[in-house]
Amino acid sequence: ETMSATERLDFAEMAKGHLIQPWPVAGEIGAEARGGIIAGDGIYVTDIEGRRLIDGPAGMWCTNVGHGCEPIARTLYEQAMTLSYNSPWYTASEPSVRLSKRLAAHAPGDLDHVFYTTGGSSAVETALRFMQFSNNVFGRPTKKRIVARQGGYHGSTYLSASLNGRPRDHDWMDSAGDLVVKLSCPNPFRRPAGQSVEAFCDMLVEEFSTTIETLGAETIGAFVAEPIMASGGVIVPPPGYLTRMRELCRENDILFIADEVVTAFGRLGNIFASKEVFGIEPDLITFAKGVTSGYFPLGGAMISAALLARLRQSNHADAMFAHGLTYSSHPIGCAVAETNLDLLEGGLLAHARDIAPYFQAQLKTLEDLPLVGEVRGLGLMACVECVADRESNNPLALDLEVGKRIDAHCQQLGLLVRPLIHMCVMSPPLTISRPQIDDLVSILRQGIALTQ
Ligand code: PLP
Repeated sequence: ETMSATERLDFAEMAKGHLIQPWPVAGEIGAEARGGIIAGDGIYVTDIEGRRLIDGPAGMWCTNVGHGCEPIARTLYEQAMTLSYNSPWYTASEPSVRLSKRLAAHAPGDLDHVFYTTGGSSAVETALRFMQFSNNVFGRPTKKRIVARQGGYHGSTYLSASLNGRPRDHDWMDSAGDLVVKLSCPNPFRRPAGQSVEAFCDMLVEEFSTTIETLGAETIGAFVAEPIMASGGVIVPPPGYLTRMRELCRENDILFIADEVVTAFGRLGNIFASKEVFGIEPDLITFAKGVTSGYFPLGGAMISAALLARLRQSNHADAMFAHGLTYSSHPIGCAVAETNLDLLEGGLLAHARDIAPYFQAQLKTLEDLPLVGEVRGLGLMACVECVADRESNNPLALDLEVGKRIDAHCQQLGLLVRPLIHMCVMSPPLTISRPQIDDLVSILRQGIALTQ
């Protein structure tokens, strides 16, 4: 399976100058493709050097059933041979109808309709355009502002990217700035010194409440939140935060959009996490990634029946929601998602729930390392945050390349980390076993220790 030395040289040559990878800097766009992963099996991937590495982030939080999953590979082939494509505009494909029914059964409250997209960004874009459309139909065209949070991540299309909460991602990019309001990141680890978690939560809720008062509920259309911020560093919000934010949305007729692109499909032990894990019933849920375990690009937005009923009863029931993608409801994607659901329902969710406490507890042991400020997480998502010194917990004084150095050491030892600046996020395939968790944690410990 591994490449010969000549093949590796050919690959290095080929990797120069044609492929543009995401998030490049201007001077290096398309200059050279990094890395080279050539195979995957279970929780492992193999790189061009022939090294077998634990896939710590499960690709990009997506390979939930693991690599080389035969039932999914078979579905891909069989669905391609049965019906490779169908126009979602004119006719509904069988897999898309079946999948929608199954997703509706899993979704909380009355979220019983699905609009399919090609991934997470287009799912968020769809939810936001649906909010704009609804408010036009309801005759309140100024109710369009979107409230998001510092530290959040929602995608790379224009509107979804405008919500992203990392300031440096906006330095050189245009965005729908006026439409977007950002609240504080609900990160208990970074709460003001001396403040209790309860007081911190009160402050966050108060901030939203004041924002609504100041701007006027009639100008705010949606609040968008990842139940647990993923790319922001696995931020588990303070207890009660999400239910209180949800309540404020209900009181002010603001749509609560739960961005479950990462947290759904088993990552937190359930198909959706909003209700089961956090006790909230959003108005819309966006999903992608784990819905097909990354075997096919698919995403979507679950939409509440009450909202659809309001549209039907409005004075503009003939208004057109002019939005749709060639690959909405792709039959292959939907068929793959069904097999993926079979696997999750058939034991993988139970396994993820069973093993999560062990995963969290083992990673937590890394807090005895001087470089580690906090290990936090829930389910099978966790973050090891490095700090300059434990007294101040200050990450700013850290050499921010520290994550890259940890990753380099770990890769030598057999673990892919893919760090977020000074944070190492771990979200392995849900199939991971106890001994494999031991391996992952032991390699990460050595990698961090070598980095001090
Ligand atoms: N929303 C969340 C919470 C995400 O983590 C991501 C991707 O990482 C997206 C949306 C965007 O999804 P995609 O990259 O599939 O467009």
